[in-house]
Order: sequence, then C-alpha cells, then structure tokens
Amino acid sequence: MYSNSITQLLGIPYPIIQAGMIWASGWELATAVSNAGGLGVLGSGSMYPQELQEQITKCKQATVNPFGVNVPLLYPNIEEHITTIIKEQVPIVITSAGNPKLYTQRLIDAGCIVIHVVSSTKYASKAQEAGCHAIIAEGFEAGGHNGRDETTTLCLIPNVVQHVSIPVIAAGGIYNGATMLATMVLGASGVQVGSRFVASYEASSHLNFKQAVIAASEGDTILTLKELTPVRLLKNEFYNTIHEAYNRHATQAQLALLLGRGRAKQGMYQGNLQEGELEIGQASAMIHDLKPAALIVKEIWESFEALASKPYIQQ
Ligand code: NDP
Repeated sequence: MYSNSITQLLGIPYPIIQAGMIWASGWELATAVSNAGGLGVLGSGSMYPQELQEQITKCKQATVNPFGVNVPLLYPNIEEHITTIIKEQVPIVITSAGNPKLYTQRLIDAGCIVIHVVSSTKYASKAQEAGCHAIIAEGFEAGGHNGRDETTTLCLIPNVVQHVSIPVIAAGGIYNGATMLATMVLGASGVQVGSRFVASYEASSHLNFKQAVIAASEGDTILTLKELTPVRLLKNEFYNTIHEAYNRHATQAQLALLLGRGRAKQGMYQGNLQEGELEIGQASAMIHDLKPAALIVKEIWESFEALASKPYIQQ
C-alpha cells in the first residue's frame, strides 16, 4: 500500500485532494472523492453558515472516511464557519485567500489538521510559521482565486519545497496521472485537483457550466481582475466587458461595480454562460468528458502508479 507524508497526515490511501471550489463542492462531490480514497473537500465560500452545517452533517452520513472544508479567509461570516467546523470536529481544514495566522492555532487546538493555500514561496514560509501542517502551492494555471505573480506550477513547486520543511501539495494544471507525477518528481507529496472534478457528475455546478468546461480549448481561460481579487475564468461576454473596461483604463472602483455581486453564482451555479463568472483552470483544455468522481480518482491514481513504475522515472 502506498504511504507518504500526506497519506499519513490525512489518513487517506491516495494523496489526491479535491479542491474546495465554490458552487461545485458540496457533499455529493466531497463524499464521492473521500469514498474513492482521495480527500473530498466542501467549498464553504459559497455556503451560508446554516448550509455549511447541513453539508457537514450529510458528509458524516455519506462517508466514514476523512473529509475537509475549504474556508476562504475573505468569507464574510468566517467566525460562524470556524465555530461550526470546530463544533463538528471536521478533521481537515483548508484555508485560503488570507492570513494563515488568523485561525490556524485555534483550529489546531481544536484537533483539526490545517493546510493553507499559497501562490508564492514567501507565503508558504508564512503558512509554515503560522503552524500549518502542510501547504497547497497553487500555480498560475489554477482556476478561481489565484496569486498576482503568475508563477507557474512548474516553477513554484521546487522553490516552495526548498524553502519549507512541511509537506507540499501541488495545485494548478493537475488533472491526470502524468501531471500528478510531474509535480511529485518536483518534490510535492500530494496534489490538489480542481477543474477535473468540476466535470464530474457529482459537482453541484450547473450542467451548462460543466459543458462549457468540457468544450474549452487552450487559451480560453485568463487570469484577470488583479486589482480586485485575481481570478482565472473562462472568457465570455462578461469577460469581454472587463476587457473593454481595461481598454478604457477603468478604475478599481469601476471594475468592482462591473463585477457586482453574485457573478460566480450566476455563472457556475445558475448556468448563465454569458453574464456569469466562470472560474476554471487551464487544465479545462485537456478535459473532454463528464465522469463520476470516483472514476476520476481511480484513473488519476492508476495512471500515476503505472507511470511512476516506469524505469526511466526516478523512484
Ligand atoms: P460575491 O460578493 O460576488 O457574492 C457573494 C456570493 O456568495 C453570493 O452568491 C451569495 O449567495 C454567496 N454567499 C454565501 N455565503 C454568504 C454570506 N455569508 N454572505 C454573503 N454572501 C454569501 O462573492 P463571490 O461569489 O465572488 O465569492 C463568494 C466567496 O467565495 C468569498 O468568500 C470568496 O472569497 C470565495 N471565493 C473563493 C474562490 C476560491 O478560489 N477559493 C474563488 C472565488 C470566490 P446568494 O446569492 O444566495 O446570496
């Protein structure tokens, strides 16, 4: 049986973590991944506090395996989410988009494993100093919220691995066994996979959005809105209006007005492919079908193992 620092830390057979993507990651997806041997994660950024409580209860009913909750630290009712997570003794918490010093110690004191998402080596060191058990280092290719520096996964992982002593999980552009192996060769101990799981039966995203992900080609996504929160999304009519605003040298306030509220829900959950925000990674160009989440985990793992055993690849 495979064993490394991440499988031991999280108590899972395969070091494959499903990203806690907003509007995609409810209990159906999270428990399908956890039951298949990866780590399923609820995306709490798109859940009101009561919704998170209900989703955790459903996870506990649908799996005996560990699962996690992703908490964007920008979330407006963060205190309520943290209180729920502690009360419900969620085993693994993945924090993102904020300062890891804020909640890490409190979560650790409550018995949680805490992993923080970073996009640079500097922030990886800060997450280690804050006491996190592991880091998810997410490169430029990733969908949704992203770093400003545009450091690719290929360049980010080896640098982060050199600078921290806690385990590193690679994210951004990973969707199959070969991309998983590539990042493990660079020193990662596990992977976080997002876009591939959006194109799963169990993701709570709208079918229109899933089909847009499957149809996406190379060059169809872009990292934009750095003046607000940098986000990688599919280019659509909404993006065209952003692009025009940039051409007019729009101010930060004008961009915020253009974005408005609930764009992500409109696009990814309600399926408005024209006006909504469609957050997805560059890997979408390589994803061509909808699959059950368990099959995605199985295929990534089996392909990773087969490739890793080839003699030309260093063990
Ligand atoms: P907006 O301000 O545009 O809209 C808020 C959305 O979140 C609405 O659709 C709302 O649902 C829903 N929501 C859930 N809980 C709350 C709450 N307590 N208060 C207000 N709204 C809530 O934000 P975004 O949609 O851009 O982002 C929402 C969250 O997701 C943020 O915390 C953000 O940091 C996070 N996020 C994380 C990403 C990642 O990559 N991890 C990517 C993008 C966002 P309703 O319409 O039903 O009111």
